[in-house]
Amino acid sequence: MDDTIYLDHAATTPLDPEVLAAMLPYFTERYGNPSSIYQLGQESRAAIDQARSACARVLGCDPGEIIFTSGATESDNLALRGVAWGVGLADRESAAKPHIVTTAIEHHAVLHTAQSLERQGFTVSYVAPDSRGVIDTGAIAAAVRPETCLISVMYANNESGAIQPLQEIAGVSRERGVPLHTDAVQAAGSLPLDVDALGVDLLSLSAHKFYGPKGIGLLYVRRGTPLDFQQKGGGQEQGRRGGTENVPGIVGLGTALVRADGWRDAYAGHCARLRDRLADGLFASIPDARLNGPSDPSLRLPNNLNVTIPGIQGETLLLSLDVLGVAASAGSACSPDLAGAIIRSPTTPTW
Ligand code: PLP
Repeated sequence: MDDTIYLDHAATTPLDPEVLAAMLPYFTERYGNPSSIYQLGQESRAAIDQARSACARVLGCDPGEIIFTSGATESDNLALRGVAWGVGLADRESAAKPHIVTTAIEHHAVLHTAQSLERQGFTVSYVAPDSRGVIDTGAIAAAVRPETCLISVMYANNESGAIQPLQEIAGVSRERGVPLHTDAVQAAGSLPLDVDALGVDLLSLSAHKFYGPKGIGLLYVRRGTPLDFQQKGGGQEQGRRGGTENVPGIVGLGTALVRADGWRDAYAGHCARLRDRLADGLFASIPDARLNGPSDPSLRLPNNLNVTIPGIQGETLLLSLDVLGVAASAGSACSPDLAGAIIRSPTTPTW
């Protein structure tokens, strides 16, 4: 395994040993339930509070605006279902707002949730991207209707690496008075996450995409955004998400997010140099290889390279690469000739 050239950090990243070290005590001696009032429990509570404050500093928000979840899939579900039911059908009699605007390039966590809401009576507009994989702000504006309750547009795409014009889209959201959600999973670690600068009302993250643990994430929800909480249970997360907190995971998420934010510029520069080197080598040795997604580097994640190599199926290529010890990923089933290599440093960052 040690010799593996891991080019699939968009799928997941290895756990940063410092993050693991921060988490370990909460698996062992600090095992208290954060809802317990004795000291052992309160140690866990304090760790959660600390992690929440740390995440809030990175996002530029109030700690109370963060809900810890089991990952971005849950965060996306909560954002869409929560706002749809919170705003959309809050008043069935008079003010039904049963329409959502999203894009055709969202992760399944958004797309399948939107489809499930359609089966429950909502309508959804799926805005298509241009040939570079970029969503046009005008197309979002054109899709918004008086009965739109939510706009959901990802920050950067997990396959093409295309960075979306979120700040422009936030202008539409403000002008039309419609909350804006972004799935920022792939942007985390490479792009700024300040929610006010982005102009978003809800933002999803998953820790394992930036050297944190799997199974933990967060949803930022701007104060005042109506949200129908989906996970009923105990009063955890101020009643917004029931269930005993994943304390080690939350500690890991907070630690990883602060570290990722701290080295963001150096990391992005490092990844962009690796990406460009790989691209130069690929295009020099396979002249008919084609770049997918934006060619303008400012519109593309620094850690993403997505190419089509004519004459070979993505799966065949990936299996051959695997034999050579290279782990990369292909595009979705609808573009079988797409082979994507997502580049990040294979181990703990050292730049
Ligand atoms: N959104 C995007 C853009 C992703 O790339 C992923 C994971 O690949 C998710 C959401 C879901 O994250 P998780 O599987 O951690 O819940």
